[in-house]
Amino acid sequence: MVTGTHLTVDLKKIRYNAAKVAELCGSRGIEPVAVTKGFSADPVIVRAITDAGIESLADARVENVRKLRDAGFGQRVTLIRIPMISQADDVVSLCECSLVSEIRTIEALSAAALRQGKLHDAIIMIDVGDLREGVFPADAPALMRAAMELKGIRVAGVGSNVGCYGGIVPSQENLKTLCDTAEELSGIAGRPLEIVSGGATSALTMACEGSLPKAVNQLRVGEGIILGTDSVNGTDIPWLKQDAFTLRAEIVELSSKPTVPIGRRGGFHFGAEKVFRDRGVRRRAIVALGEQDVPASGVFPRDPAADILGASSDHMIIDIEDSAERYEVGGLIELGLNYHGLLGAFTSEYVRKVYC
Ligand SMILES: *Cc1c(COP(=O)(O)O)cnc(C)c1O
Repeated sequence: MVTGTHLTVDLKKIRYNAAKVAELCGSRGIEPVAVTKGFSADPVIVRAITDAGIESLADARVENVRKLRDAGFGQRVTLIRIPMISQADDVVSLCECSLVSEIRTIEALSAAALRQGKLHDAIIMIDVGDLREGVFPADAPALMRAAMELKGIRVAGVGSNVGCYGGIVPSQENLKTLCDTAEELSGIAGRPLEIVSGGATSALTMACEGSLPKAVNQLRVGEGIILGTDSVNGTDIPWLKQDAFTLRAEIVELSSKPTVPIGRRGGFHFGAEKVFRDRGVRRRAIVALGEQDVPASGVFPRDPAADILGASSDHMIIDIEDSAERYEVGGLIELGLNYHGLLGAFTSEYVRKVYC
């Protein structure tokens, strides 16, 4: 029995989700790329995903890719954050492919590739409306022509990303823009660009319904595999499992207290701007978990009658007045995690990870 606050990772459920995503993509002629940034490329979890049949990997950080290489993963890795010019050498030595949008960056990658005697693949990001990374379609031909002048770089395709800044959802219209751009750039290159990377988890439902344009042949999937959710569309993905991760937090205080703080409130500390509604005296638990572990907005009690009231750096207060569970000091409260919670839990060295 594991005691104390810890995060359990159910590798069976992750294998299940990865196999389902691989199967769906396979049936639609799409290459699934597993995105590992949501769990800091934890090698045990990556192994579960590759065992389930997803070969190709992607991460946003060179440090995570190095961790994968050190753990013995030799397969193709794509860097999905626009590279830093200052890391060009590491990008080329650690990754086969990167997503790009700036000619200066492509030049730096080209120089690094020539120094290392390598050919580096680049996927030109097309901004189809979400307004995070990428060039607008009208500017793509000029970037393509400039990139074609550079040795050591091969433009392998185009990609798009939505749902990350503007909250735009993938659609037939914005993906048609991507596919049209792919065709135009293929004409300029004089060869078909082989990769049309049409987005992330939020495009899985379209793949499932068969409404993705035929030319889209790659999806970069993180959230779907690990959490079975699609936060851009705000839904659970019904054919995937949502509970592969559970955070169990140890209760350090159980008491009944008023719902409104007592005394004069200072303006500069926790709770300063919070509005407290008087709900009388209620039973609540303090758990050994705080912002140094996960953001309070990133977790939710599995007990539907429990409710997170707030958290500081090391304490989280959970209202359990209406719960039928028999909680006790030293016992554990189970929390589910959303993407941000998972990101925090894997970034924090304080959260113990337990695999089952
Ligand atoms: C994070 C990210 C992904 C994966 O997104 P999910 O919603 O987790 O599937 C794909 N592409 C890019 C560019 C990303 O930054």
